[in-house]
Amino acid sequence: MNKPVNLDGAAAWEPSPNNLEPFWMGFTPNRAFKKRPRMIARAKDMHYYDMSGRAVLDGSAGLWCSNAGHCRGPIVEAIQKSAAELDFAPTFQFGHPKVFELASRLATMAPGDLNYAFFCNSGSEAADTALKIALAYHRANGEASRTRLIGRERGYHGVNFGGISVGGMVANRKWFGAMLAGVDHLPHTYNRKEQAFTAGEPEWGAHLADDLERLVALHDASTIAAVIVEPMAGSTGVLPPPKGYLKRLREICTKHGILLIFDEVITGFGRLGHAFAAERFGVTPDILTFAKGVTSGTVPMGGCLVRQGIYDKFMGGADHVIELFHGYTYTGHPMAAAAGVATMDLYRDEKLFENAKKLEKVWSDAAFTLKGHPLVEDIRTIGLVAAIDLKPVEGKPGLRAYKAMENGFHDVGMLVRITADTIALSPPLIINENQIDEIFSDKMPKILASVA
Ligand code: PMP
Repeated sequence: MNKPVNLDGAAAWEPSPNNLEPFWMGFTPNRAFKKRPRMIARAKDMHYYDMSGRAVLDGSAGLWCSNAGHCRGPIVEAIQKSAAELDFAPTFQFGHPKVFELASRLATMAPGDLNYAFFCNSGSEAADTALKIALAYHRANGEASRTRLIGRERGYHGVNFGGISVGGMVANRKWFGAMLAGVDHLPHTYNRKEQAFTAGEPEWGAHLADDLERLVALHDASTIAAVIVEPMAGSTGVLPPPKGYLKRLREICTKHGILLIFDEVITGFGRLGHAFAAERFGVTPDILTFAKGVTSGTVPMGGCLVRQGIYDKFMGGADHVIELFHGYTYTGHPMAAAAGVATMDLYRDEKLFENAKKLEKVWSDAAFTLKGHPLVEDIRTIGLVAAIDLKPVEGKPGLRAYKAMENGFHDVGMLVRITADTIALSPPLIINENQIDEIFSDKMPKILASVA
């Protein structure tokens, strides 16, 4: 590669094959992208705008994160104010008001006695933090033998070593060596034969939670620290939990003293019509991870909500002794915390979780109008999420969805998320019925026609 040129100022900067080269993009075919970049210049409410000012409907809330829509005034102002007033403050040994305010807000919103928030900067860090808290908890509780972690096939818990070890996305693991020791996986819950074209939770599949009993018999409960699942697996294709499945998991975990961790990085903050999926499904985990929607995607932030009894277990030593040897420089960053509080205000003031709940049926009915299309093999919906499984191009898995995403951006004017041959739709929660109609009666049919 030649060294980049034309980097002397944002105003002068235009994408060209040469100056696109230095950024190594994650989870992206770099060469294809750099030949025909999908460049986003601005955003407002439900839309992105490309370099020429053309509007692109945001069908996926960015990466499942911009739940309040884009560049919302109150959040922008809170970030600006924080940037001017307090650019950084440590939260090791010191504190600042916003991070305590946000923790209180989250603890109030969370179900059960999930009363404590630990902050980090992403969903991946949240997953690893949750696993570490679970391990440390058992040690503090006099059960140091509980070191085994159980994830699930088709689980996604970010890209750090803990997360990929318990995760079940083959491609995210196989390049990266031996993983954490002592990890096992439950089966995933998707079965097309039993569940195809289901709106909401499938009737079939609760029994799959019983596989945890098999793992307990295999490893002995005294070696198992925690089970981590997404209440609805998102990044691996939108897999709503079978009816009763999460309750069953909860019961088995409780019976054997295993901590249950819900990864709510996607499902948190209204995506399924409630503050958290835990509330929707009536199941309270011991630790709940969040990220994305906590700041509506504006400033990086993630974290864990932890039950009272877990926190208490760490608080037994002398007052001046550190209880948990974990944290990040940017834990509870002032700008993220300010964005988080402003985001919670906006969710509350505009009743956005209620909007998601109210629109769930309209959304689902609209998505199911695509049933019967020759390219559509399955549709799953829950909350404001829809997955459209496309018939793969023979011998080229993933190609049809990739083209759909590409054409969606360049030709149809809608941003969609893809995984394998699934299109996952998850718009900002400010969406209205007209925009839902636009997605399923106009944009999606055009996208499908473009990849026929
Ligand atoms: N957990 C889940 C359930 C996720 O969906 C994601 C991201 N899509 C992550 C963790 C990782 O979050 P991040 O990309 O912020 O590290």
